[in-house]
Amino acid sequence: MSNKYIYGPVPSRRLGRSLGIDIIPFKVCSYDCIYCQLGHTTDKTIDRKEFYQPSLILKELKEFLNQDIKADYITVSGSGEPTLNSELYEIISQVKLITDIPVVTITNGSLLWDKEVRYALKEADLVIPSMDAVSDEIFKKINRPDRRLEVSRVLEGLMEFSGGFQGKIYLEIMLVKGVNDSDSEIYKMKDIIQKLRIDKVQLNTVIRPPSEKSAVSLNNEEMTNIKEKIGADIPVEVIADFERTSKAFYNIDIENEVINLLKRRPCTLVDIANALGIHNNELIKYITEMKRKNVIKSYSIDNSEKNYYKVY
Ligand code: SF4
Repeated sequence: MSNKYIYGPVPSRRLGRSLGIDIIPFKVCSYDCIYCQLGHTTDKTIDRKEFYQPSLILKELKEFLNQDIKADYITVSGSGEPTLNSELYEIISQVKLITDIPVVTITNGSLLWDKEVRYALKEADLVIPSMDAVSDEIFKKINRPDRRLEVSRVLEGLMEFSGGFQGKIYLEIMLVKGVNDSDSEIYKMKDIIQKLRIDKVQLNTVIRPPSEKSAVSLNNEEMTNIKEKIGADIPVEVIADFERTSKAFYNIDIENEVINLLKRRPCTLVDIANALGIHNNELIKYITEMKRKNVIKSYSIDNSEKNYYKVY
């Protein structure tokens, strides 16, 4: 079955088996993060739109669930920032009516100052917002936001959301070496974290191929040091997956299809996803693992910003 909106379930270290709902076209986002695994943002905006009819998304989800698919979470995210979808409340509340599987929304948190966005998220069981910077200069460097966004406004939104939301909140911080990992930024983040009502902090780093080559990961020891600096009353965990992808979730047929395609011609992530009918967010797990196994490698042509993949 070819699906437009639903993909997976895909393995997720923090969510188990995650059935994804993509409610945003590629790549509409309020940020253009230097570490983005999907590549550059092509439509940078904070203007919310319907994008897709909720009834079409829900129809596809029902068909999926009728196949008796097991999932630990239904994850509302996308090929961009999901809170930009103005029908988010309708989508989440309707999903809650058709299944008992908990619903999580992964968001960059940039629009939480908007009360309609906070309202839209209220039926979710878990929300995972990001906070990669608290200083204006670092915010602009790492997240490259829409020009109408100020870090102070984003942080106020996060504060307001965390105070009113009834479900669980895991705050994700993506750490990039030399960009947002200085002691001064980490301790400023800690000050903000202590004012938030959140369940835990999850520290991540650049494990998957980033949008910019300059986005480099921290190692395990550096991540643990930061965990200790932030850790206090709120649990902090390192979720960066330095280990291999779990074999239980790895479909060798998909790996072989990627190899066969790349033997014919080098492709970008989006080329591969389109050619094989696999969602970007699922494919990226295979690409990461295949790079780690030295089956494929990435390169750019004439210093262009696009990452191409080819077999070794
Ligand atoms: S990482 Fe998320 S927030 Fe950042 S550019 Fe990519 S999709 Fe947008």
